[in-house]
Amino acid sequence: MEVGANMEMPDEQILTRGRELLGLIDAAARAGLARGGWQEWLLNWSIRHDGLKRQIFSFIASLPQADTPRAFGALLKEHFVGHTGVPRLLRAAARAACTIGPSAMRVLQPIVRGRAEEMARRFIIGASDARTSANLTRLRQKGFAFTLDVLGESARSDACGERYVRTYLRLLDRLAAAQNDWAGLVSGGQFDWGAAPRINVSIKPSALAPGGNLAAMLARAGRIYERVIALGGFLCIDMEALCLKDVTYELYRRLRTDRRFGDWPHLGLAVQAYLRATEGDLAGLLDWARGQGVRISVRLVKGAYWDSEVAAAEARGARAPVYTVKSETDAAFERAAATVLKNHDICHLACASHNIRSVCAVLETARALGVPENRYEFQLLYGMAKLFRIALLRTTPRVRLYCPHGDMLVGMAYLIRRLQENTSNESILRQEFAPGPDPAELLANPAEQLGYSG
Ligand SMILES: Cc1cc2nc3c(=O)[nH]c(=O)nc-3n(C[C@H](O)[C@H](O)[C@H](O)COP(=O)(O)OP(=O)(O)OC[C@H]3O[C@@H](n4cnc5c(N)ncnc54)[C@H](O)[C@@H]3O)c2cc1C
Repeated sequence: MEVGANMEMPDEQILTRGRELLGLIDAAARAGLARGGWQEWLLNWSIRHDGLKRQIFSFIASLPQADTPRAFGALLKEHFVGHTGVPRLLRAAARAACTIGPSAMRVLQPIVRGRAEEMARRFIIGASDARTSANLTRLRQKGFAFTLDVLGESARSDACGERYVRTYLRLLDRLAAAQNDWAGLVSGGQFDWGAAPRINVSIKPSALAPGGNLAAMLARAGRIYERVIALGGFLCIDMEALCLKDVTYELYRRLRTDRRFGDWPHLGLAVQAYLRATEGDLAGLLDWARGQGVRISVRLVKGAYWDSEVAAAEARGARAPVYTVKSETDAAFERAAATVLKNHDICHLACASHNIRSVCAVLETARALGVPENRYEFQLLYGMAKLFRIALLRTTPRVRLYCPHGDMLVGMAYLIRRLQENTSNESILRQEFAPGPDPAELLANPAEQLGYSG
């Protein structure tokens, strides 16, 4: 077998697997399995109009606050008057805001808001408990596992944190009832794929308590975790902005070793490959787990806050804490995945990426290292990369979708991050909407692109 510089990085196999996946994506596209109507059109449009895209995303982000016709008119004028190339509906609305005023806004506001809400629904599994539960059941019938996330971040008060916890507890009650009708995916019985809990939820530490207060976060996360364990479920802690990284690792370690929860191994932590500090943090976490004699789980992501981390560092005149060349992040992702896979006896890996090269690197590295299949899985965001998720499910059954629940108002920050990812120059997701580079470029080894062997 042709191997890369490291035995665990079988590059030839990664390329072969990648070409197979691209073939499956092509077949799914030709079968018309991911048609998206005007939302696809808007994403496509945003890709082609990079300057105006910022205006549109900023407009969508401010929509929930513009809750009167007057405020809505002001928002339209601020964002679209004096710009060329504005889409027709928005151009007409901005003109009406200038010439007709609030009476026209009363008509236009619900139309534009409705369109934005429709856009949000592409990425949000449900706004009501009943809809969310029914849609999750539907996803499972299609063969996908889920992790459920309640939209919300950066709690402004303890009352917000309490509301966040209560929403989880209420949803978990509903899932407890629904789970009685769910046979484990692939294997039947109580677990998906033979070993994974059927109920899986993700939480954001910043939504639990204001100001990164560890004690309050721990108390609230503990209440959710207790209920998750009672249902035989899995809890994952998302990773957010860098300022919350250390407290999030600590939250994980404390929950994992809290005696109240016994030795329940189904607790995960998201780790961001784009952070320069991650390699050291991950090594420290694995050492800690070995020292404590506990099994852990890592969801490996690239990191969703790249723009704001770079901007914040620039404002401080400091070196960016994240890699600034995309291939550096991709190469770091592959290295971190290999590290976790080598420690599969104590650490389960959730590979969370829509990048074909990154996913194939995990598939083939796991195979080369002889990692048992129940020690790794693949995760994608609900509403993104629909063709890829179909193709991936044909390659491996262990595909989980990250499904946000909630309404557009609280989900706006999430929606904008997803829109930015779908249309960013550096994103693999752009390939779904715009003609992209050839397969060799898509599947290129990021370490080789950087000129080192990883
Ligand atoms: C199931 C799931 C759960 C997730 N949970 C979290 C979470 O808890 N926390 C979190 O932060 N994110 C999370 N994400 C989002 C994730 O971090 C990525 O933003 C997203 O998946 C896009 O990365 P990709 O590998 O899919 O696509 P790709 O297109 O291959 O990668 C895009 C990513 O590359 C990085 N990047 C972009 N430009 C540059 C550059 N110039 N230099 C260096 N790096 C660059 C950024 O991280 C960007 O998001 C999650 C994603 C999934 C699928």
